[in-house]
Amino acid sequence: MSDVLRDADNRFAANGDDAAADATAQDVLARLDAVLPHTGGPYPLHAPEIDGNAWDYVKDCLDTGWVSSVGAWVDRFEDMLADITGARHAVATVNGTAALHAALLTVGVKPGDEVLVPSFTFVATANAISYCGAVPNFVDCEATGLGIDPIALDAYLDRIGEMHGEFLINRQTGAIIRAMVPVHCYGHPANMRALCDVAGRYRLTIVEDAAESLGSTIDAQHMGRFGRIGAFSFNGNKTITTGGGGALITDDDLLARRLRHLTTTARVNDSADLVHDMVGYNYRLPNINAALGCAQLETLDAKLAMKRELAARYRETFEGAAGVRYLSSPPWGDSNYWLCGLLFDAGRTRDVVLTRLNAAGYQCRPFWTPLHSMKMYADGPRAPLATTDRLSACGLTLPSGAGLKAEIKR
Ligand SMILES: *Cc1c(COP(=O)(O)O)cnc(C)c1O
Repeated sequence: MSDVLRDADNRFAANGDDAAADATAQDVLARLDAVLPHTGGPYPLHAPEIDGNAWDYVKDCLDTGWVSSVGAWVDRFEDMLADITGARHAVATVNGTAALHAALLTVGVKPGDEVLVPSFTFVATANAISYCGAVPNFVDCEATGLGIDPIALDAYLDRIGEMHGEFLINRQTGAIIRAMVPVHCYGHPANMRALCDVAGRYRLTIVEDAAESLGSTIDAQHMGRFGRIGAFSFNGNKTITTGGGGALITDDDLLARRLRHLTTTARVNDSADLVHDMVGYNYRLPNINAALGCAQLETLDAKLAMKRELAARYRETFEGAAGVRYLSSPPWGDSNYWLCGLLFDAGRTRDVVLTRLNAAGYQCRPFWTPLHSMKMYADGPRAPLATTDRLSACGLTLPSGAGLKAEIKR
């Protein structure tokens, strides 16, 4: 073929792709318009819903002066969270990242260890591992629930791992692979039954990054309760918010005591003289944030119902759409639909649709940038990450806040 002909061919292919992407964008816009009319926007990706008793509870902190690291609202927030998740213990923290850090230290992650973590997640998951002096070892996810792919993980560990007594050693680096941190991406439960099975065979401790999955379950068991410890975030964009905040849940009495100790500067007793018996952290959630959190937890069920209704309408509207798949709960669990997502057949299409939707007032975001592509993690150990790269290039998240329920077209 002559160069001229080949150039003409390439141009045709490029135009063809763009025309197809434009058509998909047009179609997606029309389908979204049937749920949230763009004339009513702009629609934020996930705005906080401050409602219920929030003003009264926060005012109580202001009136009494109990705004800081001591106060009744923190205890109440922890009790409510334990109740909602069914966990024996809940420990509130300043944010989700601190919660993950404390959890990893408490299960015994040591400097030089490796910890298995998806590359497809928010950067905090891997950063918490780095704070321990440990090394994130990135593994791939699957395209149904967006969590760690248990089959690919098993194959990877079979190839690089070697059991030395109790310990799984990475044959390529010589490091102990101590733990695994599954993430419930955008609220969809990772396939925990299968992941627990892999973890059991390789003697790996599981810490769940449940930051995005308050209200998500597998067989009515709350996310964060499949591993030894689960970590939540209550940042402003999450399903409920405390402004900034996080929490840990566990069923293990000893772990709960250690988590509480570590996150409250490792103070030995309540006496006037400040005695600390290790290098602890000032990670306790302030009372004023917990007060807001109590009000937010009171309306959690209502918020979840609103989010699930929006998600159901999205699912309906995208049924039968060509070139795009709406991401429902995986068959093994129930999502809180923190962020609803669309997955396109091609990255080019995703890019065109993203631009078009944002211009029309639908605030959308591309899926996570893979952590293994970021400069601080570019040289780290990793499994093959083909699905992660595809999801990242081809996915976007849609406006998903509970407050949008009021805007849904009847
Ligand atoms: C939000 C989030 C965190 C961190 O929570 P912060 O409260 O922002 O520190 C950790 N992991 C995931 C997956 C998150 O989405």
